[in-house]
Amino acid sequence: ETAPIRRPIRQLDDAAANRIAAGEVVERPASAVKELVENAIDAKARRIEVAYADGGKTLLRVSDDGHGIPEDQLPLALSRHATSKIDGSDLLNIHTFGFRGEALPSLGAVGRLSITSRAEGADSAAQITVHGGEMSALRPAALSRGTVVELRDLFHATPARLKFLRTDRAESGAIIDVIKRLAMAEPMIGFTLRDVSGGGEGRVVFQAEAQSGDLFDALHARLAKILGSDFAANALRIDAEREGIAITGFASLPTYSRGSATAQYMFVNGRPVRDKVFYGAIRGAYSDFLHRERHPALALFLECDPTLVDVNVHPAKSEVRFRDPGLARGLIVSALRHGLAEAGHRASTTVAD
Ligand code: ADP
Ligand code: MG
Repeated sequence: ETAPIRRPIRQLDDAAANRIAAGEVVERPASAVKELVENAIDAKARRIEVAYADGGKTLLRVSDDGHGIPEDQLPLALSRHATSKIDGSDLLNIHTFGFRGEALPSLGAVGRLSITSRAEGADSAAQITVHGGEMSALRPAALSRGTVVELRDLFHATPARLKFLRTDRAESGAIIDVIKRLAMAEPMIGFTLRDVSGGGEGRVVFQAEAQSGDLFDALHARLAKILGSDFAANALRIDAEREGIAITGFASLPTYSRGSATAQYMFVNGRPVRDKVFYGAIRGAYSDFLHRERHPALALFLECDPTLVDVNVHPAKSEVRFRDPGLARGLIVSALRHGLAEAGHRASTTVAD
């Protein structure tokens, strides 16, 4: 008989820690795209270009014209828990997408990552690469402004994960979905998505011009691009506020509905969220106006003080937790009901005229 063998406790090295974190942050190419585009938005980009090949499995590239990363901070950007976005003392007051400092090191652990950047005011650009967790030395590079992050051969070192990816077509679909959601929330930013599988310039899969001027007009134009002109022509403007939570956006009139609830987009402080409570509120609000099997299309944006909502729930960050979920729910229901009732009143007086 042998005694059970107990191994001593040891600290994981950075490479192992990054690989483990990567499992949570990067499930598939679309999750890498989400992290990289959110970084570009956080960097105040006005134009973001995304290119992918083979469903993002062999190549992902995100280029932006944001404020860039100073050369001497490039190695730090690739280090675990290193972020320029919070200082750790105020986790309840977050205004950016990022704050964990995990995305870039995680991506560097699961693919060949290169970052080229030229910081605002710098007179040259620099590049750094990571492969298998090993960082290269800084190299001079050519770039007029902003940042280009390229990720090649995602999961090449973890065949088990690679095997779980779906077809190129399905993975491309997930990338397009991520881009559309982010583009909805950022109408003032121009987005271009290309499939460069064949090499060269590739094929433009999605494009939305940067809007300017009035925010509601900008959002309306962006939604016409993403949800279709039929939606835009039949959309009700939503604009309400209660106890520090504001709700804005567009929701379809009962004259425009769909057979499934797939075109319902919710955002909290600019973050795309999926929350059962919200879907329930939407169903409730439309219950007097639509048949049970019909569903509205909508894009609704809740804005509140960051201290009223906890976004620190999950690394993929599509969950949020309101301090008072009943308040958010009630506001959605009443804003939609009020808008629908007003529209119905307008419609009936038009008929009477
Ligand atoms: P987080 O976004 O949580 O801070 P990341 O690992 O995604 O963590 O990025 C680390 C840091 O690298 C960011 O805090 C930011 O300073 C910098 N960074 C990443 N991407 C960009 C970009 N596109 N433009 C400018 N800075 C960037
Ligand atoms: Mg980030």
